[in-house]
Amino acid sequence: MSRYFCHEYPEILLVETRVVDARPGAVLLEQSPFHPGGGGQLADRGVLRWSGGEARVIGIEAVDGRHYWHLVGEQVEMSGAVQAAVDPAFRSMIAQLHTDTHVLNALVFQRFEGALVTGAQLNEDGTARMDFDLPDADNDRLRALEPEINEVIRQDLPLRYAYVAEADALSERGLIRNRSVAPPPASDGTVRVVEIVGLDRQACGGTHLPSTGASRPVRILKIDNKGRHNRRIKIALAGGGE
Ligand SMILES: [Zn+2]
Repeated sequence: MSRYFCHEYPEILLVETRVVDARPGAVLLEQSPFHPGGGGQLADRGVLRWSGGEARVIGIEAVDGRHYWHLVGEQVEMSGAVQAAVDPAFRSMIAQLHTDTHVLNALVFQRFEGALVTGAQLNEDGTARMDFDLPDADNDRLRALEPEINEVIRQDLPLRYAYVAEADALSERGLIRNRSVAPPPASDGTVRVVEIVGLDRQACGGTHLPSTGASRPVRILKIDNKGRHNRRIKIALAGGGE
């Protein structure tokens, strides 16, 4: 996990930059406001504008965790000055969904004896799934978390960030919430921690809301048993997943 531009300046969605390298259908930029995705989060969508026109960004390809190729899916030859613009509606939708998965995750962790996440996926239709290691959980108790998630949204809790040393991150109970994937440390050996103030702290490299109140309400769509240990909880933002 590197320190992305969008981590430092989450509110800046448009950047004037330059092409550093290019190949057919892809371009490497000096600076980019795009989140590259990863760990269940989808990459930002948006467009690149240059003297030759405009191209939609259809994906980001990370190389060595340092270089981020913007895939434009067209045989364009881009060079010189570029305006990189993130789609604000898509960024907002993903940030809402992602922040809400933290809220769900925090409530499961607190109510179910420190249960860990085994997988997560955000979807472009405004739904997300989270898998938890919950061998003995009662699905009705899980379903009852829906009003609690919405109560946290209503309370409008602020989010804040810190960078902590990797060793400290590994030794704090629950900070690394995902059973399978610990976020890699940044080049300076620190791990990014996101805190929903008063609720939860965990390592994460994604995009989030400035406060929980910026999310639409959430529904729990369904809960599936996946094998002996895993429960899969599917959530949707109001208006999503229909
Ligand atoms: Zn996150």
